[in-house]
Amino acid sequence: MQFIDLLTQKDRIRKSLLHRLEAIIDHGQYIMGPEISELESRLAEYVGVKHCVSCSSGTDALLMPLLAKGIGRGDAVLTTPFTFIATAEVITLAGAVPVFVDVSPETFNIDPSLVERAVEEAHEHGLRPKAIIPVDIFGLPADYSRLEAVADTFGLWMLEDAAQSFGGSFRGKRAGGFGLCGATSFFPAKPLGCYGDGGAVFTDDGELDGLLRSVRVHGSGKDKYSNDRIGINGRLDTMQAAVLLEKLTIFDDELEERQRVARSYSEKLKDVLRVPSVPEGYCSAWAQYSVLADSSGERQIMMQALQAEGIPSVIYYKIPLHLQKAYASLGYREGDFPVSEELSRKIFSLPMHPYLREEEIERIATVIGTQKK
Ligand SMILES: *Cc1c(COP(=O)(O)O)cnc(C)c1O
Repeated sequence: MQFIDLLTQKDRIRKSLLHRLEAIIDHGQYIMGPEISELESRLAEYVGVKHCVSCSSGTDALLMPLLAKGIGRGDAVLTTPFTFIATAEVITLAGAVPVFVDVSPETFNIDPSLVERAVEEAHEHGLRPKAIIPVDIFGLPADYSRLEAVADTFGLWMLEDAAQSFGGSFRGKRAGGFGLCGATSFFPAKPLGCYGDGGAVFTDDGELDGLLRSVRVHGSGKDKYSNDRIGINGRLDTMQAAVLLEKLTIFDDELEERQRVARSYSEKLKDVLRVPSVPEGYCSAWAQYSVLADSSGERQIMMQALQAEGIPSVIYYKIPLHLQKAYASLGYREGDFPVSEELSRKIFSLPMHPYLREEEIERIATVIGTQKK
């Protein structure tokens, strides 16, 4: 069994995709070909925002807004320690300091009630709190109604890390569309993935859109060889845009299948483990289906039993960011973010993709169920 099945999907789009790729080989615009702007308008429309700037990865999609907004030395950017390293890494790369905020034990997303404390902490360290990066972990959007209010109160602009949540929504608004801008990833294993690295930034702000386009190509001004600011080489390949355009044609169908898989898992596992909670008004894109065991010991037993049956499972995230060696210099200690730390001890993710069959879900649930003491 595969953790994420990317091979079944390719047969659905193979023919039309090969046509598109051949067209690119023939027109020869491998960089910034017409497929790029076609993809950007489709994606902007899908998310429901005015502008989409495609780019080379989800990491660059997070970095570019920080560069565009001039985030740098002496600035603090708030985010959670229960995420993939890229979320915090870009803050450091921009020259600023990540200030962590613990997550809610229900949703595993940033807890809005803890933001005020982090803002004070930033001030105590002589930093200027400028922005906040909530993460839509495992595909579930963060609590944007409370976050928008909190961000306003403390004068922070918001960058949504929608790397895992493309296709998800909150109160009818699609993930990627919250805050000043949202960043997503098209890494193959994400809900909408290409055949390599890719990402995109979404925004309604016309000025930011222009700045992002400049940052994407070395801070270009009137043309590529007049440079107005420091940027990066952050373009998406034309070929990857073609892959995404074809994958978009089956994306809504795949999202529905992910809902089916999640529902089925939850029904079968709800009396055995803590299954994911999706509060009223939210729709998850189900990048991961992650459950909580009662203890790290129980988790180990269950994961070993799955492995013995040829069923892969993965721990996202084994070490919260504040305890990573890379961030030792920030001076955090064990106990600083108890919810994130407890999740790291008990959480594990089960196979999740649109092509997971009912018999397979049944088998996974049975293996886990028989390990329950
Ligand atoms: C995958 C991921 C990223 C980075 O995306 P890449 O395309 O791999 O650079 C950032 N944040 C989160 C939460 C992610 O899951």
